[in-house]
Amino acid sequence: MFVLFPQLNKFGEPKLFIFALLMGTVENIGLMFCLAFAAWMVRVWAGVLFIVSGIASFFIKNLGIEITKPIIESVFGTYPQEAADLMSVDLAAHLLLYAGIPIVLTFFLRIKKEPFLKRLKIFFITVTLMIPFYLVPHLMDPKSLIFAGKKLVEPYFVPTSLYRNTYGFLKKRVLKGSIALEQRQRIEEVYAFEFDRQPKDMTFVLVIGESTRGDHLSLNGYERTTTPKLEKRSNLVSYTDATSCSARTIFSVACLLSHKTLSTFSMPLSDTSVISVMKSLGFKTYFISNHRKKGRSNCEEADVCFMQAEKNKALGNTKQAKYDLALLDLMASPTEEEGNKFIVLHTIGSHSNYNDRIPDESYRKFRPTCERASLYRCESDELVNSYDNSILYVDTVLDSLMERLEDKNAFVLYTSDHGESLGEKGVYLHSKPNFLAPSEQRDIPMLLWKSKAARITEDHAQRIKKKTLDEPVTHDHVFHTILDCSGVRGEIVDKKLSLCN
Ligand SMILES: [Zn+2]
Repeated sequence: MFVLFPQLNKFGEPKLFIFALLMGTVENIGLMFCLAFAAWMVRVWAGVLFIVSGIASFFIKNLGIEITKPIIESVFGTYPQEAADLMSVDLAAHLLLYAGIPIVLTFFLRIKKEPFLKRLKIFFITVTLMIPFYLVPHLMDPKSLIFAGKKLVEPYFVPTSLYRNTYGFLKKRVLKGSIALEQRQRIEEVYAFEFDRQPKDMTFVLVIGESTRGDHLSLNGYERTTTPKLEKRSNLVSYTDATSCSARTIFSVACLLSHKTLSTFSMPLSDTSVISVMKSLGFKTYFISNHRKKGRSNCEEADVCFMQAEKNKALGNTKQAKYDLALLDLMASPTEEEGNKFIVLHTIGSHSNYNDRIPDESYRKFRPTCERASLYRCESDELVNSYDNSILYVDTVLDSLMERLEDKNAFVLYTSDHGESLGEKGVYLHSKPNFLAPSEQRDIPMLLWKSKAARITEDHAQRIKKKTLDEPVTHDHVFHTILDCSGVRGEIVDKKLSLCN
């Protein structure tokens, strides 16, 4: 509840704010005073409450990040360096003010121990007051206003939201775990797929970007030239109205590779993906990633699986190995081999800290850039400059890939896992659940390129002539586009969702 004071402006709805504040008071103070059996326990409990709420309120206030399950998942899955990037002198100062001073004040409070019966009474009153908040929405239609209101309030309901979502995450991770590859439903066996081994020696590369927004590509009409190389490319079509499955990496990557749709896909992974389908049809499959391994993923379905650590090792742990262009070096020999190949390149794209994504000064075209550790302290144009520079590098990576495949029978499909908030309405980064995510966090690029030798339909040729199209597409199109462009037929291949059709 302590978190709510600095949040009033962003919360925007005074009635919901007052409701959450009242419930927070009842829940935290009520339970604390009736369940603590000694004065020191109240002080320790309050201390933990102030620190936890202090940390949570820092992120809500400065970055617009609410305490939801996806955020807890991100925290547990965060790179140590990223976590360090988020910690700052600002956070220390914030904690001193919002946790340090209140903790000191609790030592001046006289805490009187009430008789058992009186405490029991307070306990029952507290629990009774909390029942409507927890029970009523569950009895109502999920589309109703109260249900929606509760869902909106909950993420701000610190520290309850923190406790609950941490418990939910651990329960999922520890008790349920992720589903091993052997136990997933093998869609390549459940459904029939056909491939007549023609065309010969085809290469399909799916490039999954990271935090790159479709509306920041000059190819899509952005006013700054962020994709000069892609703009010069022929045989390329860009979809300007593309939406991601979610605003979270792990969820979106698994979702876009799955045959399931935005509305039916769920985690943990219960089915094999398009990688297994391609493998079963004789394609040699690769998953080369610039992301750290976080539990079980689709990588293990591929014949060749390189997550970040293995990739760095294979590249000799050089300074250049951490940049996305290096991923191409690991597919250099695969593309030279004969036979059909399906390659997934999972890039680090435009992930914060944006300046770290570019290998040298030649990509620092937009200046001044954001040089502060806390990105919300940068001016808006500094932040956007840094972000746009990262897209200049994405442009180079994609163009270099197309260059390598130009003389082969090849397709490249590029999309991002999700978009990114760049301070719009005080919100930064990504990872919000879909019901809270602003459009910036789900706005993605979707590009399809073909080499000269790749065969396409007349309709597809007409689209390429237009270069950009504004018909809406989503991550649902990825599975069907990969199969259809590669010449795979099957009972669940939906040509309406294919960008090659
Ligand atoms: Zn991501």
